[in-house]
Amino acid sequence: MNTIGVFTSGGDAPGMNACLRAVVRTALGADMRVVGIRRGYAGMLCGEFEAMNHASVSNIIQLGGTILKTARSKDFCERDQRACSARLVKEAGVEGLVAIGGDGTLRGAQCLWGEHGIPIIGVPGTIDNDIYGTDETIGYDTAVNTALDAIDKIRDTATSHERLFFVEVMGRDAGFIALSVGAAGGAEMILVPEHDTGVEEIHRTILAGIGQGKVSSIIVVAEGDEEGGALEIARRVRQFGGVECRATILGHTQRGGRPTARDRILASELGAAAVNALLAGKAGQMVGRVNGEIVLTPLTDTWGKKKPLDERLYELAMALAA
Ligand code: ATP
Repeated sequence: MNTIGVFTSGGDAPGMNACLRAVVRTALGADMRVVGIRRGYAGMLCGEFEAMNHASVSNIIQLGGTILKTARSKDFCERDQRACSARLVKEAGVEGLVAIGGDGTLRGAQCLWGEHGIPIIGVPGTIDNDIYGTDETIGYDTAVNTALDAIDKIRDTATSHERLFFVEVMGRDAGFIALSVGAAGGAEMILVPEHDTGVEEIHRTILAGIGQGKVSSIIVVAEGDEEGGALEIARRVRQFGGVECRATILGHTQRGGRPTARDRILASELGAAAVNALLAGKAGQMVGRVNGEIVLTPLTDTWGKKKPLDERLYELAMALAA
């Protein structure tokens, strides 16, 4: 393999740049050429390709976002449009691809491999951590620490004003961020899609806390909780009466910022591992880190199998909050 392409796609995640640096420098170290594809699958469809060298990835390991930009592309979900992308990739002399992104990106990668035989290795880059085949995704640790910082600040206000706050964190289909932030922030409750906690029960728990003398509380809500987001849950809790509460949505602040050391290291390891996997003739798989070891997982399993929430941590956080 003489030339590989690399791109970032879907939601940006802190550590994507550290991963690009590792991909580019590992490939150059193996005497390969590297083509950067801008704006994910959207750029691939328009042939937005650029040569990358050692200097292209200088001084970026500490930066959030992605220097190659990222995008979501509806067009790429059409088979004929993917065929067009695959043709452009092949015409550019690209013989293997590294795709950095979340589950949608990995689904697209499987299409390029399955439909067009372009060897491709996925790298899990999403703050959501909802990907099977890796203990953590790139960006997750930074997002958790960013949200935790905000929650610590909100707690100051909650304590001073003796108030209850519902704080919504990202996580459309999974409660990984909410659980980690809630456990680390000493939240009184953690509401995640994996556990059905009805509003009545939430209200009952709050009143029980007030009865025990609790004057302020933080309840962390994953955005995908089945009862609704923080605003909706706060509204319904108020309707039950006897509770004054506020709701805060942390939103996109969780996506940006300087990656933590842990994310930079994970990104560096996975970026290098992705290139080495291509060199070893692997394709249609994702690199991940499980129990400290680099492992390969078929792309189809990365979204087909569900990564479970850490139930032990959930129980512990609930027990300590009681
Ligand atoms: P995040 O988890 O941060 O949202 P993501 O990679 O899951 O990241 P998506 O927007 O879901 O983000 O997917 C990125 C892109 O991958 C989509 O815009 C689309 O172009 C492509 N894609 C998603 N699903 C498919 C699919 N089933 N088939 C082909 N391409 C897909």
